[in-house]
Amino acid sequence: MLDRSRLRIAMQKSGRLSEESQKLFASCGIKINLQQQRLIAFAENMPIDILRVRDDDIPGLVMDGVVDLGIIGENVLEEELLNRRAQGEDPRYITLRRLDFGGCRLSIAMPLDAEYTGPQSLQNSRIATSYPHLLKRYLDEQKVRFKSCLLNGSVEVAPRAGLSDAICDLVSTGATLEANGLREVEVIYRSKASLIQRDGEMSDDKQELINKLLTRMQGVIQARE
Ligand code: ATP
Ligand code: ZN
Repeated sequence: MLDRSRLRIAMQKSGRLSEESQKLFASCGIKINLQQQRLIAFAENMPIDILRVRDDDIPGLVMDGVVDLGIIGENVLEEELLNRRAQGEDPRYITLRRLDFGGCRLSIAMPLDAEYTGPQSLQNSRIATSYPHLLKRYLDEQKVRFKSCLLNGSVEVAPRAGLSDAICDLVSTGATLEANGLREVEVIYRSKASLIQRDGEMSDDKQELINKLLTRMQGVIQARE
């Protein structure tokens, strides 16, 4: 049974945010042994438990109040927020700090030979994406009607496979797009990793610990800038 008096923090188990999240914990003085392939890692020197999960699960864990803190890409956080709102929920969380890693952009890309003169070129197109809500929010603003094709991986091959006319996917260098004969035509969302806290009551002890961690993080991040 987990001890609810200990601060519970969710981080990505393995992926683009894991190493930096781990480094951030270490630089805040949290001693954890993450060598084992365990779901939960216990800090040795502070009342903190680290939950290691898929990044997609982190916003929900925080919004449902299952964990106290989470480190997550804003792209995934915002998509889950819109997803829950679309289902009539009123999800809550608090952003404690935007972090200095995990930078990327969510962009629309099209085959090199496709004509693009602006968002209107996407009228009535089919767009493959893992971020249907962020895409819909953007194209609704542009008054563009489209159909989305939900893919949770291999989005960049969709046009070549005849599944879609365009894609909406994360980009950092653009190398993946280029390798798939695509060009970036529109940036719709810029993202970084963020530290978030669940809404609702927090014991004084936990809140004090959170404040202490935040102060340390502030110092660490400022020193890196
Ligand atoms: P998981 O197995 O945890 O679901 P994943 O494959 O969905 O992992 P990663 O590819 O590890 O996720 O990306 C995690 C996050 O890292 C992204 O949601 C985004 O916020 C950030 N990120 C930074 N740069 C990139 C990039 N070039 N491509 C994709 N994500 C990036
Ligand atoms: Zn994921």
